This record gives sequence, structure tokens and C-alpha cells, in this order.
Amino acid sequence: MHHPIPTTALPSGRTVPVIGQGTWHMGERKQAFAEEVKSLRHGLDLGMTLIDTAEMYADGGAERVVGEAIKGRRDDAFVVSKVLPTNAGAEGAKRACEASLRRLGTDYIDLYLLHWRGRYKLTETIDAFEGLRRQGKIGAWGVSNFDTDDMDELLSLSNGTEVATNQVLYNLNRRGIEYDLLGASQARGMPVMAYSPLDEARLLRHPDLIHIAKAHQATVAQVALAFLISKPGVIVIPKTGMQERVRENRGSVDVKLTGDDLTLLDKAFPPPMAKMALEMI
Ligand code: NAP
Repeated sequence: MHHPIPTTALPSGRTVPVIGQGTWHMGERKQAFAEEVKSLRHGLDLGMTLIDTAEMYADGGAERVVGEAIKGRRDDAFVVSKVLPTNAGAEGAKRACEASLRRLGTDYIDLYLLHWRGRYKLTETIDAFEGLRRQGKIGAWGVSNFDTDDMDELLSLSNGTEVATNQVLYNLNRRGIEYDLLGASQARGMPVMAYSPLDEARLLRHPDLIHIAKAHQATVAQVALAFLISKPGVIVIPKTGMQERVRENRGSVDVKLTGDDLTLLDKAFPPPMAKMALEMI
């Protein structure tokens, strides 16, 4: 059975599917290019229309893969890209955005994120993002790898409340954000984008996950993703360059975890009992 992919709303009211597609390591190997493009297109066909990329990935190579995948169907996709902290100044952000647009073969990026905090003042980056938004080059902006104190600082700044998302490491092995960051985001009506939702495939061999997956006639990847998207305001962006895995990951929306499953998961992957510094990959 295939349920439609649930959506969640960005602060602007724009809705996006809770399961999208990551692209880290795409564009690194010429031989894989065509298959990576096909995977992303397949995901678009299946409703995984949010595609996450970054200028950093394969030095722009991942954006080129995305550009090819959205060619002729730009409106089907919600493209997220990221500026490197070293480019996040007034001039650098403009140049970086232009370069990303060229590689993506489009004239707008739906959501543009600061990849992580660097040496530029947040006010300078926000001003640059707001300028790009006024020009229509980006639809909205957000941040990535921001812990609670970074978010508090951002929200205290002029236009800081325009932030549309915080993309952070979140999966069963890394549940730290459940202590505070996740709740704070939910309270603001701002989705969190969970990166490395499969812990870069490390979760896939876990015996308790295998047990739950069997009971649901599902796969381990589906259970790991279902756990995350069962929480309000969480968007997952698993990466795969294989079409059958795209289909598999899409199927996570059909897995409904029971109370017993969640108890078992809490035992196997204990939720945080105290503040933990945000982890990063
Ligand atoms: P991930 O999505 O947790 O795992 C990707 C790995 O899992 C790949 O090796 C992939 O291999 C494999 N995989 C995917 N689906 C599978 C399935 N159904 N069965 C078996 N294996 C499967 O890790 P990630 O790529 O680090 O994170 C996802 C996305 O988040 C990235 O691609 C990137 O867009 C974003 N990200 C952002 C940051 C940040 O700082 N903002 C950091 C890391 C990641 P195949 O491709 O061979 O299938």
C-alpha cells in the first residue's frame, strides 16, 4: 500500500514533503552520473520533491547532477542548496549563489542554507540572504548545524526570525536534538531537516531494527526513516544513488510504528537525558 507522502509547512506556509533526497557524494564519479540523475528523477516521480544539495558536495558536482535531474521539470522540485561559511559574507554569498544557480541550471533556489557557522557575522550573512531573496534568487533561507545557543542568537537578530529551517544531524544513533533543539523548533512552527537519517548506512545492521522491520514486513531503512518522520516538523533527506533504494525509502511512509516498537527503540537507542552539544558530520 502506498500512502501519499505527508507534508510539513515551512514558516512561510509553503509545504514540502517530509521525505526528500540527499545528494552528498553524488557527482564524484563520472560513471555514476547517469544513475544518480535517474535516481533523483525517480524520487521526483514518487513525490520526494525536496532535493538537498550544497556547493561543497563534489566541489559543485552534486549541484550539476541535480541540475540535470530537474532539467525540463524545475517546477516539480523544491531545491535546497548551501553556501560554505567561507563564502557567507556580503559579496561572497552573492557570487556563491550565482555559481550554484549556474550549476543547477535554474534561476532560483527554493531554500538556501548557511552550511555551518564560520567567521562571518550572522548579521552579514542574513543581510546577504535577504538581498538574494529580494532579487528572487532564493525563495527562503535557513541554517545548518546550529545548536540551541546559535539559534537563540540568530532569532535575536534583525530578520533572524525569517529563518525557514535548521538542518542538523538526526537519526536513531544521534538523538541529542530531542532534548531541546527539536522541541524549540516545533514550538516555532519551523521544521528541522534531519541529515544522515540512516547514520550514513550504519544503522542498517542493527539487530533491534532488523527485528522491528521483520514484524512490519518492512526494511531497516524504512523503520529508521519512519521513526524520524513520525515526529511533527521533521523532514528526512536520505541519500541514495540507486532507484530501487529510492523506492524503498519512499515506502517508509507506509510503516506505522507501534507503542511497543517505540519502547524497544528507546531501549536500543536511548533518548538524551541531558543537554548534549549538537553533533556534526
Ligand atoms: P544517509 O542518508 O544517512 O545515508 C546514505 C548512505 O546510505 C549511502 O551510503 C547510501 O548508499 C545508503 N543508503 C541509502 N538508502 C539506503 C537503503 N534503502 N538501503 C541501503 N542503503 C541505503 O547519509 P548522508 O548522505 O550523510 O545524509 C543524507 C543527506 O543529508 C546528504 O546526502 C546531504 O544531502 C545531507 N547532509 C547534510 C549535512 C550538513 O552538514 N548539512 C551533513 C551530512 C549530510 P547508496 O547511495 O549506495 O544507496
